[in-house]
Amino acid sequence: MVLNAVLGKLGSKRVVLASASPRRQEILTNVGLRFEVVPSWFKETLEKSSFAAPYEYAVETAKQKALEVANRMHVKHLRTPDIVIGADTIVSVDEQILEKPVDKQDAYRMLSRLSGKEHSVFTGVAILHCRNKDNQLETEITDFYEETKVKFSDLSEELLWEYIHSGEPMDKAGGYGIQALGGMLVEYVHGDFLNVMGFPLNHFCKKLAELYYPPSKHNIEHKKYDSIPSVDTFENLSDGEGESSSFPEHKGASKLDSSAICSSVVVHNSESNTAVRTGFMVPSENQNGVSDSAAKPPSKILELMDGFRASKALFVASKLKIFDHLKAKGPQKAVDIASELGTSVCGTERLLDACAALGLLEKTPQGYSNTDSANTYLTSDGEYSLHGYIIHSNDHLWPLFTNLESAVKEGKRQNHQAFGKKAEDLFKDYYHSQEVKQRFMAAMHSIARLTARDVATAFDLSCFKSACDLGGCTGALAYELVKIYPNLNVTVFDLPEVIANTSYLQPSGQHTPPVTFVSGDFFKDNIPEADLYILSRVLHDWPDEKIQVLLSKISSACKPGCGILLAEMVLDDEKKNRSTALLQSLNMLVQTEGKERSGSEYRALLEQHGFTNVKIRLTGNLLDVVLCVKTYEK
Ligand code: SAM
Repeated sequence: MVLNAVLGKLGSKRVVLASASPRRQEILTNVGLRFEVVPSWFKETLEKSSFAAPYEYAVETAKQKALEVANRMHVKHLRTPDIVIGADTIVSVDEQILEKPVDKQDAYRMLSRLSGKEHSVFTGVAILHCRNKDNQLETEITDFYEETKVKFSDLSEELLWEYIHSGEPMDKAGGYGIQALGGMLVEYVHGDFLNVMGFPLNHFCKKLAELYYPPSKHNIEHKKYDSIPSVDTFENLSDGEGESSSFPEHKGASKLDSSAICSSVVVHNSESNTAVRTGFMVPSENQNGVSDSAAKPPSKILELMDGFRASKALFVASKLKIFDHLKAKGPQKAVDIASELGTSVCGTERLLDACAALGLLEKTPQGYSNTDSANTYLTSDGEYSLHGYIIHSNDHLWPLFTNLESAVKEGKRQNHQAFGKKAEDLFKDYYHSQEVKQRFMAAMHSIARLTARDVATAFDLSCFKSACDLGGCTGALAYELVKIYPNLNVTVFDLPEVIANTSYLQPSGQHTPPVTFVSGDFFKDNIPEADLYILSRVLHDWPDEKIQVLLSKISSACKPGCGILLAEMVLDDEKKNRSTALLQSLNMLVQTEGKERSGSEYRALLEQHGFTNVKIRLTGNLLDVVLCVKTYEK
């Protein structure tokens, strides 16, 4: 018996689940659906960077899994299923897709990225209706995705490794299973729990309701079912057609779907193995004959149009130290905050409301308070405070970006135009005043703290005995390295103006392993001896000619077996996918003579100086990592 009448509709059909996942089988069996399991042979190898959003990848993989099974059953097993269900679950954090870990180190990398953070679990589902027409396989696909937000607690190293050694992470997207031991890592789940297990049952039922019980023409605007209709409702909605057909009553299935992006109808020809989209983004017409798609707001464009307002609201709230204030005082009303900050009540209230709507604050009858994420990232003493970088963005990058148009026209930095001073080199500009220098160092420090763990663990560096972080600034990465590799001696090398000012940003505590600080100019002075040279966000500051000078100097100091580790935002070779890195490259245009580079560009620069075996790891955090080894003398 099935409680749900839509699922009951499938009782007379040959339904196939194209998945070996025991969790998906359990979810569907538990609701009384009868189906056959034919695991898909489709390899999860689609190029992730070619998808604009992570869920698109999951949906496409789900479709391909279902199509592979339908095709194989039709051609090889000579029996055509009525319905094939494909699904793919991924975890996405910081726009990076995490699938199943390949080994324990990979599991460690994934889980430490999820630690203390909120991430999204997406399951893409494809419902494939199949028909054998003159020995040809015809298919119609309906697809959708479900997103659930999950937040992990802060995971200690000990807990992380204990969980990894349990073996549970290995066959699971993101390296955890919420239904077993992994549930202990989870602080909260927003959305469908079953989706995190691998199958969004609720959305699946709603989608079937849309397919089998389409709304009648007079109420076409209620295209989306907000709940699964009851049995009575089904009878009312049903037009009594289509029982004998494998295809649902889909007078244009795609038209019934309000989210055109995630639903399509595909006619699939098994011989040519090509899929012809017949219903993708088909605009529907309302009663007045006006195309619905024309009225849909272009959400991406609107978001970009407004982006600067949201950024500025964040910047101003940070400048006014509203997050620090609320952390210290607890929930407060706008009038009290305004009186303590000496700001207008009406202006403060609008800013607070905007911050709450942007998810930075919570608004309750008691007043405004910080979200967890504001406490961690936006307060100036938060564990991974981005306050320094936000203030740098407001005071330094904002005026520079105001001159982006001139930078694009002239192809050069805009420091003179933005700040009215004759521009020298980037760092002389930064270090001419104590205030600007400290602001810059705090900015570098906050990003380095946020990325240090991912940079330090992107590769196993335990074979190196000493490392020198050239341009290592406040030592944030250096301190993370000695924590992870206790036998590594790390030296930070930076300009004298920086080295003289690092002490206030260094970790305190007697258990902090030592890091050595050496001052000098890496273009002019000798650099300290080391097995591994680190350049984190250094190469992107300079044009190729300067990089040649620096790499040549490092190469001369390196014996074979020594390495270079770069931490940069690495562009894809075609320079078309990684928008954060491409915007950072614009950022370098307005203020430096440098730029962001692709993996191939870094490889070519390194190989010219005898460094080979170049490996690139995209961490999904703000910085990617390149490791190479000196194999021969130049
Ligand atoms: N590596 C740090 C990080 O990732 O946060 C800081 C990166 S910051 C963009 C560049 C660093 O290179 C600054 O700390 C700067 O002082 C240092 N630097 C610039 N020119 C230098 C030079 N000629 N010699 C030594 N260090 C230099």
